[in-house]
Amino acid sequence: VTLEALVQHRPGEVRRVASAANEAVKAIRALDLRKRRDESGLFVAEGARTLIEAQETGATIAVLAHLAAAAGEPPVVRLRKAVIAAGGLVLEVDASSLAKLSRRDNPQAVIGVVEQRWTPLERLRVERRALVLEEVRDPGNLGAVLRTADALGADAVVLVGPCTDPYGLEAVRASMGSIFAVKLARTDLAGFLAWRAGCGALVVGAHLEGRVDLRDVAWRDPSLIVMGNEQQGLSEPMANACDVLARIAMTGRADSLNLAVATAIAIYESVRGRR
Ligand code: SAM
Repeated sequence: VTLEALVQHRPGEVRRVASAANEAVKAIRALDLRKRRDESGLFVAEGARTLIEAQETGATIAVLAHLAAAAGEPPVVRLRKAVIAAGGLVLEVDASSLAKLSRRDNPQAVIGVVEQRWTPLERLRVERRALVLEEVRDPGNLGAVLRTADALGADAVVLVGPCTDPYGLEAVRASMGSIFAVKLARTDLAGFLAWRAGCGALVVGAHLEGRVDLRDVAWRDPSLIVMGNEQQGLSEPMANACDVLARIAMTGRADSLNLAVATAIAIYESVRGRR
């Protein structure tokens, strides 16, 4: 079953799906695989609230699947209208198909197949601050970082090197809808270093052995806050490319902070330092 076959439909078509073995269900499930997400540029987002966030931020919902019995609920009515008007596909599914689609015992009543949005790095303008993540591996961490970036005020998140997919189900779930609110860009180390040279930002790396206490950084706009990989921290070339390496003072026995926690502190401090 191909996604192409699924996405081939009359514009605004509404289809009934009464079996978990349905082709459309299988095609959506195939998006569990990163390969299929990369090829199609699509991903799965769950829940009416998250999908309304998608719609409000201008994301394209290609397919909306909802429990047939929920067709009259106000958020579903609103999403259906938007998807039909935009020429997407609406699937009215039974409970067994929905459970298969979301892999949860207690599934959300609405699931969407949404187009990924990437900002080409050369077009990314940072006004205030952006986060740079080098080789982030844990999808839960990445989702939490996206949520934090959105909540605390980072303009964008730039993924450098081989990173976990922000459009994977676990990252999307952990982002709690913020995947739609934050600009996303991706590049390799060489691409980042070239862009960094021309972007005019202060580049602050969060590093366990940073010479500067994070509270003493002379923040200015725009700034880039660079966070390292969960195991290795910042690579040497990345650390060398930073204007400042800053540490978050720790007093206990833990040898480091969790990546998402350190990110929250760093963004918060950069905002406080600009007042
Ligand atoms: N073993 C790794 C190391 O040696 O860097 C720990 C990586 S830590 C789990 C993930 C990232 O969070 C680090 O690369 C750094 O960017 C940030 N981080 C965590 N604790 C920090 C601290 N106390 N000061 C500055 N950055 C920190």
